[in-house]
Amino acid sequence: MGNKTRIGRRNFLKNSVLGMIGAGVVSKGAWAKEREGNGTFQETADKTTPKIKDYRILGRTGFKVSDLATGSIQEEGLIAAMLDAGVNYIDTAESYPGHHRMIGNVIKGRDRKSIFITSKMLMEEGDTSKEGLIKRVRKALEDMGTEYIDCMMMHMPEKVEFLKHERFHAAMQELKTEGRVRFVGISNHGSFWFRDPEETMEKVLLAAAEDGRFDVFLMAYNFLQMDQAERVLEVCKEKKIGTSLMKSTPVAKYYILKTRVEQLEKEGKDIHPLYKMGLTRFKDKADRAEQFIQKYDLKNPEEIREAAIRFVLSNPNVNTVCCTLKTYDEMERILRLSGTKLSIKDKAKLAAYEAGCGELYCRHACGVCEPRCPHGVPVNTIMRYNHYFMAQGLEKEAMLKYADIPGAKADVCAECPGHCEAACPYGVPIQGMLILAHDQLSLA
Ligand code: SF4
Ligand code: SF4
Repeated sequence: MGNKTRIGRRNFLKNSVLGMIGAGVVSKGAWAKEREGNGTFQETADKTTPKIKDYRILGRTGFKVSDLATGSIQEEGLIAAMLDAGVNYIDTAESYPGHHRMIGNVIKGRDRKSIFITSKMLMEEGDTSKEGLIKRVRKALEDMGTEYIDCMMMHMPEKVEFLKHERFHAAMQELKTEGRVRFVGISNHGSFWFRDPEETMEKVLLAAAEDGRFDVFLMAYNFLQMDQAERVLEVCKEKKIGTSLMKSTPVAKYYILKTRVEQLEKEGKDIHPLYKMGLTRFKDKADRAEQFIQKYDLKNPEEIREAAIRFVLSNPNVNTVCCTLKTYDEMERILRLSGTKLSIKDKAKLAAYEAGCGELYCRHACGVCEPRCPHGVPVNTIMRYNHYFMAQGLEKEAMLKYADIPGAKADVCAECPGHCEAACPYGVPIQGMLILAHDQLSLA
């Protein structure tokens, strides 16, 4: 690949999608920055700022959590503004770069007892001896400047057997006794490259519920992907396990891809051949999606996104929904959804979106097509990383994660007849989307 091509693509990204994202970040709506006496900035809201209207009991923890929570938000001011608006559940992780320190800055000077913080630790990385895990938690506490973490989660255990990680449980027990960790939890959103197709998110989480040592679950659940989480949510209710959600708005992809397609076509040059191939394969389904968008007048992605959040808030077994936001305007729109439920109009919008654009969403926690790939490409994982890049603005993290995938990546898809596509029950144009993902995630 020539250097010229790389630069051209980078410029395209910078000037289109990333440029749009960047432009949104500086828009602060009703929010303003004020300088504190100590020289730091604090975000403050004016009187029109929406507030959290609903709090729900987080299972056996007994904590009343806001129905909306902060997810992997990358801007400190946004998290602070969410807390000012009444959000009291913060989701973070050891693997989110710099996030623990950011949370530390945000909670400084606030009533610690009024905030529920969950963090997560990967069991495949770092020191996983009992002492090593204790050390990692102490480091997290230090970075956040807090005496305790409300819930420490096992991050993405892919197999039921991982739940019995006795060193993890021994470390958590010791930290609980010391008062450094109050509860233990688990997060899961499905497949990884070493995945066994039998080890679904549902199977792992139901086993965790049975295990009895996990008090809070963080899982993927949305209107396009209900099957893997609904039974888990019911069991959580029965067993008084707290529930928090992620990946609840699988809607941005269509609009972002559409913008990229239009930009690339407009520029008409300097596009990598893999990208062109991906676009051609993807475009047919995207064009059909466009017909639905026109027919149902679904021009605004925010409408669908808001309906998608109301969908999950309407499930009584859901305690809180983690939101990943990039702008203050976006935050205000999302905060207005607190305490609301799905309307008949929302239902119709979501049904139309699913009919038109559902094929463009690779379901989190799936992986059904992966055994069909002769190269062992981790389809679901790559699609998820691309989602981080495109929909969550986590470009750097997504690219680093992609680079870390051992074995085959999506560059092999260009030379393949696409064995995987017939296996996808949702009709995802896998090959085209993976070629696009590879081109995007492997930017040098
Ligand atoms: S492409 Fe289809 S079958 Fe493959 S992981 Fe995604 S949703 Fe599942
Ligand atoms: S297109 Fe081919 S190489 Fe790519 S994931 Fe599908 S089967 Fe594997």
